[in-house]
Amino acid sequence: MSLINEAKKGSITEVMKQVAKDEGVEPEFVRRGVESGRIVIPISPYRETRAVGIGKGLRTKVNASIGTSSDIVDINIEIEKAKMAEATGADTLMELSTGGDFYDIRKKVIAATSLSVGSVPLYQAFIEAIRKHGAVVDMEEDELFKITAEQAKLGTNFMAIHTGINQITVERLKAQGRFGGLCSRGGAFMTAWMMHNEKENPLYSEFDYLLEIMKEHEVTLSMGNGMRAGAVHDSTDRAQIQELIINSELSDKAHAAGVQTIVEGPGHIPIDEIETNVMLMKRMSGEKPFYMLGPLVTDIAPGYDHIVAAIGASLSSAYGADFICYVTPAEHLALPNVEDVRQGVITARIAAHIGDMIKNGSRQQDLEMGRARRDLQWDKMYELAIDPAHAKAIRDSRSPGDKEACTMCGDYCALKIVKQNFDFAR
Ligand code: SF4
Repeated sequence: MSLINEAKKGSITEVMKQVAKDEGVEPEFVRRGVESGRIVIPISPYRETRAVGIGKGLRTKVNASIGTSSDIVDINIEIEKAKMAEATGADTLMELSTGGDFYDIRKKVIAATSLSVGSVPLYQAFIEAIRKHGAVVDMEEDELFKITAEQAKLGTNFMAIHTGINQITVERLKAQGRFGGLCSRGGAFMTAWMMHNEKENPLYSEFDYLLEIMKEHEVTLSMGNGMRAGAVHDSTDRAQIQELIINSELSDKAHAAGVQTIVEGPGHIPIDEIETNVMLMKRMSGEKPFYMLGPLVTDIAPGYDHIVAAIGASLSSAYGADFICYVTPAEHLALPNVEDVRQGVITARIAAHIGDMIKNGSRQQDLEMGRARRDLQWDKMYELAIDPAHAKAIRDSRSPGDKEACTMCGDYCALKIVKQNFDFAR
């Protein structure tokens, strides 16, 4: 029985209990969230994973995406990236390979992690069509559904599926145009296929069949944002909103069928449109979990896009986004390496925490850090830091004469002066 149906029956399952324990909430709160569709717990009947809850009232979760490209295929590096993502605190992992042996890579990456793993079956379907027939537009519809089921059987917990691109969405895109084109690979593949074949997107027209597959294999459906803007100039345009409307409608249908559902959001958007995007999505989808891809709030900082995305993600989370996809320093430049993954996860976790301070009032760690700083308790500060090893390495590399202070102010450490002369500690 699906998790939604268990929740509807009033059962609190083991994974619901686990999520409640991790989040410090009542198990009944999690059950009600799953029943209403406001919380998802991506599970798989094919493998044990660390249960993670995503949705309203829970900590904002961070996804790390890894995977090969057509230029760089090294399975050992992908396994290292998966391990690095888990070690640095990612909550989920998306395996998005577009080069090499898809089955072999996914199987080995899944075996290397206890995180919930996501995929985009459409990538494999289109790339295999290119390998077999020479063109994206020759993808066979049956293959797409077959690959979706195969990926589910490997133990994939959630899948980004581009259900919201239909003929109306494409018409809106053509009528309005874009400065920055489409940055979603799935969106670009599917739009090209639909325009060339003059056919409806099978993921939209055969949505009931897709739901059967999702339900049979207990996969959480993440409704892809294939029309997201690839430049801030195109943000929140008609094509993006059209896709959001369709995805929101389909998310109700999926939930009614017992399929857990997440709705994906942009992309590249300026900072003053974040609140509107979160509010629109939440209102239209009945508060389903919202998965923000970044968002990137300016286009001018390649090399620093992990910071750009963290600014967008912290605001998104504060306004109510539940799940954020990390961005690495390599974004728009190259396939991320292991160090890029580390930096991407840490930066996204900082953003998620900043959002949770507002959204969920999660401030205990900040309070304790404030006290540890006041009292110059360096070990305690490292313990509370989001990346303890990095913090310690910086201090150790510039060791102070006075071990209580640091080399920033040295003999004139303000905190030490206060400690020696006043006492207004709380
Ligand atoms: S030396 Fe300056 S920066 Fe370092 S702990 Fe003291 S007050 Fe803070």
